[in-house]
Amino acid sequence: MIALQALWSEKKLPNFPLDSFQRKFKMKISEFQNWIEQIYGEKDRKRGLDKTFVWFIEEVGELARALHRNKPQELSEEFADCFAWLVTLANLSGINLEEAVRKYQKCCYKCGHVPCQCVEKNSQIG
Ligand SMILES: [Zn+2]
Repeated sequence: MIALQALWSEKKLPNFPLDSFQRKFKMKISEFQNWIEQIYGEKDRKRGLDKTFVWFIEEVGELARALHRNKPQELSEEFADCFAWLVTLANLSGINLEEAVRKYQKCCYKCGHVPCQCVEKNSQIG
């Protein structure tokens, strides 16, 4: 799968198998985290946590602008970028995100219900 991805990124594969590959392409969170480590891990460690966090915040700003414009393709790309940078921060911090999100696997972690029954204060919803 990794070899296919590399060929695809170098545009050495024709469109038909690429489309077929993309439709079948599914990753667990842990697989994606490992993939991001393979692609960017070395560069991320050289950049360091503080500068990487600034990159992440810049991507969140781009997501904010995309949400305002509400164009599906742009939104998709900005969500992907934010998620990738979040995963990078987890890699640099030694956090396994698949384990971390288990916090949400059964119910709302605060009230213990599905759907959540927590009452939001006005200050929390702007
Ligand atoms: Zn709740």
